[in-house]
Amino acid sequence: MKKLCAIGEALIDFIPEKKGQRLKDVVRFKRVAGGAPANVAASVARLGGKAKFITQLGNDAFGDHIMEVFQNVGLDTSDIMRTNDADTALAFVSLASDGNRDFLFYRRDCADKNLKPEDVKEDALKDCGILHFCSVDLVESPMKESHKKLINMALSQNVLVSFDPNVRLNLWDSEENCRNAILEFLPYADIIKISDEELEFISGYTNIEDALDFFFKDRCQYLIYTMGKDGAAMYRKDGSKVMAGGYKVNVFDTTGAGDSFIGAFLYQLLANDCMDLTKVSANQLESFLMFANLYAAHTTTKEGAIDAMATMEELTAFKNEVINQ
Ligand code: ATP
Repeated sequence: MKKLCAIGEALIDFIPEKKGQRLKDVVRFKRVAGGAPANVAASVARLGGKAKFITQLGNDAFGDHIMEVFQNVGLDTSDIMRTNDADTALAFVSLASDGNRDFLFYRRDCADKNLKPEDVKEDALKDCGILHFCSVDLVESPMKESHKKLINMALSQNVLVSFDPNVRLNLWDSEENCRNAILEFLPYADIIKISDEELEFISGYTNIEDALDFFFKDRCQYLIYTMGKDGAAMYRKDGSKVMAGGYKVNVFDTTGAGDSFIGAFLYQLLANDCMDLTKVSANQLESFLMFANLYAAHTTTKEGAIDAMATMEELTAFKNEVINQ
């Protein structure tokens, strides 16, 4: 089985001890390792796949903790850099009673944004089948240039490119800069995942069916459209569509739902050696989407992101519970 390589931010999420409060009212937080692309790589590793993560962490206690969590889930951390010149990024999160979140980020000049292209090794994609990235680390920075280098390497080595823009507007100085960065990178992706909440911001369309030409004008073969509790739809460049409904579960915290969804989907592509996206059957894709919905539904029933991601064994037990409900 080929590896997933993900690049981008890894950070400490401070999540509230109690749900249902505004961020300003939260008194106690618990620290958990996170960051969207890191969550995706961790979910592949938790499922038993091979995954590596490329980032830079501060030479500080939070960086040490993130390294420990990554090593415990079985992620390949050999390309992670450490620096004394910047801190590991932090995010404070509040959880509304319905599981939705508010964020406050401390990442003005953080370690991950300063990963230099020369620190991305020439053999970084050895044994990799898919490269995955998100948008938070596409702000003007050495890290943006590192993304470009790695994406160019992927394109020249027949490694599939997967992009989940995962819009976090409060990390950008303007909505326009965020949108422009996403638009700059969309043309390089073979697989694009967006959520219903991001569609209009990215494409200008309110209906996914109207936005298909927009997404398929470049390389994209698969457009995956997630719809929270309603599951997901997948559109293919050949005009076909596959749908899979969501699972009804008791949601505790939606942190990492989208990341675990795309992680589980990419895991299935890698585990089934589906590296030619045009040759995967509709039935197979439907089963991958169902698997990803189940995996993400499980994540919403637990606290945090990486900590919430199931192993294959835990997922099987969860499936039996959901089916017998
Ligand atoms: P995130 O909130 O992590 O940023 P996202 O906005 O990228 O996620 P969503 O569409 O909210 O993506 O959720 C991704 C997937 O997670 C859904 O397609 C579904 O499989 C699962 N999911 C999300 N919310 C729920 C829920 N309330 N109940 C069951 N499954 C859910």
